[in-house]
Parts: sequence; structure tokens; C-alpha cells
Amino acid sequence: MSDANLPFDIQYLERLADVAIGTGLNLQPGQQLVLTGSAETLPLLRRIAIAAYKAGASVVTPILSDEAITRARYMHGADNSFDAAPDWLFAGMGQAYEANAARLHVSSENPMALSDMDADKVGRASKANAIAYKPALEKISSFAINWSIISYPGRAWAQLVFPEMSADDAQAALAKAIFAASRVDCDDPVAAWDQHNIDLATRRDWLNDQRLDALHFKGSGTDLTVGLADGHLWSGGAAEAKNGITCNPNIPTEEVFTTPHAARVNGTARASKPLSHQGSLIENIEVHFENGRIVKASATRGEEVFQKLIETDEGASRLGEVALVPHASPISESGLLFYNTLYDENAACHIALGQCYKDCLVDADDISDKDLKARGGNSSLIHVDWMIGGAETEITGITQNGERVPVFRGGNWAN
Ligand code: ZN
Ligand code: ZN
Repeated sequence: MSDANLPFDIQYLERLADVAIGTGLNLQPGQQLVLTGSAETLPLLRRIAIAAYKAGASVVTPILSDEAITRARYMHGADNSFDAAPDWLFAGMGQAYEANAARLHVSSENPMALSDMDADKVGRASKANAIAYKPALEKISSFAINWSIISYPGRAWAQLVFPEMSADDAQAALAKAIFAASRVDCDDPVAAWDQHNIDLATRRDWLNDQRLDALHFKGSGTDLTVGLADGHLWSGGAAEAKNGITCNPNIPTEEVFTTPHAARVNGTARASKPLSHQGSLIENIEVHFENGRIVKASATRGEEVFQKLIETDEGASRLGEVALVPHASPISESGLLFYNTLYDENAACHIALGQCYKDCLVDADDISDKDLKARGGNSSLIHVDWMIGGAETEITGITQNGERVPVFRGGNWAN
């Protein structure tokens, strides 16, 4: 589809490109940029390249994916295809990050792209990909470089969010929601982001001052105690990567988050929204944790995909992130279900199974795997966020000496 046929005002793509390069990445003169997205996002990728070169980028390298090509593999690929991955590509991306390239992903994926494909093949292929991508992903999860993710209103995705509308109307409606959540629909997006980052930093600093030992979540079927890792740090909004560049890794972002203790999580967590995971939809997840590990799991849809996910490795059935998002966040107030983690995780409190963020621990720069584990940091090939918060969520902080501090009441910050 050419730019002229897009059912929304393309000046917002220019603003989104500016926010991605400025606020999102804070791309520095001389930095290379690895830019990933589907072929459908080219109208935005091209504007991002312009913004990047205007900011002084050295080389912008686009790496495109395509839904039809991905589906072709599942329909016609040989059985041994599903244990293979493009190692050479991921190795190259790892080398780029090693040499201080920035990374920007534009997400537009159809959440249902692979929902009619064999769950076993989907699981094998994503595991093979995760193994090949791990060294490069570590540069992202350890925040070695400035990176960011933004979204583009893909047509198939839009039709899932707005099933009652025509394809054009749905894409226009999703575009409007993305532009609003990304704060590019106001007069001064950069000033709006600066204020939002100050607000998130205030919450983050308050939580860090409490030095909590655990959080207790209650509401919407969840009754869960999440111990926090020894020397955990809360993070949120703009943050400084290890290369010294302050960036916003998610556009939009509404969360403050930290690293839970992988052996100190107990109770029941029930998903408050469906989870869209690599082309499949998983609904009504309910899991029971004992000493940090999931001992019972169910879902009313996509249960097999979920089971495969938590069996990926030992750390896949333990938590690597806990995040707080008020029910009054703008994305939550839109009332929409996006079937996209970047959006849905910023509408509700969530937990993530799998890899922790080492950056959410004090003095974790050169921490050994053994010390990370001793402090409660989880390791896994996966990192999958899913939502447990809603309008009734109550969160109580438990301090080192057993005091109880109200954190959330009625789905929002208690103070
Ligand atoms: Zn999160
Ligand atoms: Zn996460």
C-alpha cells in the first residue's frame, strides 16, 4: 500500500519517527542503527531512516520480515526446518550491538498470524530462534546499548482489535490509538514525554525508598505473593543504558518494574487479559506457584502453547519481572484489547515468565550466573509478559521487618 492510500494522516508517522529517534532511542551522531519490522511498516521505517540520518546516524540497516513468508515455512517447510534458525543473522546483530549500534523494532504483527499452525512446530521454531538469538538478546536485556520498540498500525492487527469495522476504518482507529498512546497527537510530543518521564521517575524513586521484601497482589482471581530479588532496583520510563545513552526502551510505556526473587513466589495468578504469543492467543491463564515455580497451569484457549512455553527450560516456569501499571493509565482507559504485549502490558499490572533484567539489580554489571541465581535473578531463553491487574487490584508492599505498606488500592496508586 502506498503512503497516499493509508487511511490516516501521515504527518503523525513523521512525529512518531521523531519520537522514536529522539525520545525512544536518543540516537547519537555516529551510531549505527539496526532497524527491524515487517514489510508493511515501510512507510514508518522510511521516515525513521530520515529522522535517524538527520540526527547524525552512521548507517541505518533495515531487516524486514513478512507474514506470508513466515506462514509459507509452516505450510511447506520440511520437518527439520523447525529446529533451525538464521544463526548468522543473529550473530551479526550481536556484533552490531557489541560495536555500539542502537536497535529499534517497529511492531505491527498480526497476533493471529500463526494461530492455525501446528503448535509443536511453532514451539520448536521459537525455541531454536531463542537459542540462536540469546547472545544478541543479552545485550538488550542487560541494557548494554540504547534500544526501543514502537508500534505501527498493521491492517490485520487492526481488524482483530476492531472486528466490526471495515479494513480501512479499523486501521484508522488503531492508528489513532497508537498515536495517542505514543503521545504524538499533542502539540509538543517531546515536552509531553519529558513530563511523563518525570512522573514515572517519582513512582520509581518512592518504591526504591521503601526497600520492600515482597509484594502481595489480590484481586480478579489473583492471590499472589511475589518476593523481590536481593538488591532489586525499580526502573521505569527513561533510563541510562551502559553505553551512557539515556533512552526510552518502550514507546508507549506506563510501567515501573523490577526483578522478583525466582524462588520466593507463592500463590495463584490469573490472567486479566488474553496473551498474544508468537501468533497464538492464550486465554484465561491460571497458574499456581510454589517456592517460585509453576506447579499447576491451565488456560481455556491455547493451553498447549502455554504448556510448551513454560517447559522451554527450567527458568521458563519462574518469574523474571514484576511490573506495576495503574488501571487509570491512558491505554487502559481506552478500554481496548490490543492483543499486543507492548500495548496490553502498559494497560495492566503484569508479571513476566523467564529472563530477568539484570539492570534491575544493584551492582549487577559483571555478576556471575551463580551470584545472579543466589540473589533471586531468573535465567531463561524466554521473557513473556502477561497481565494480572485490573480495576480491583490491591497491592500491598511487605517491608524487610514485616510492615505492610499500601501500594495499589482499587487498581490505582494508593497515594
Ligand atoms: Zn513489563
Ligand atoms: Zn517484560
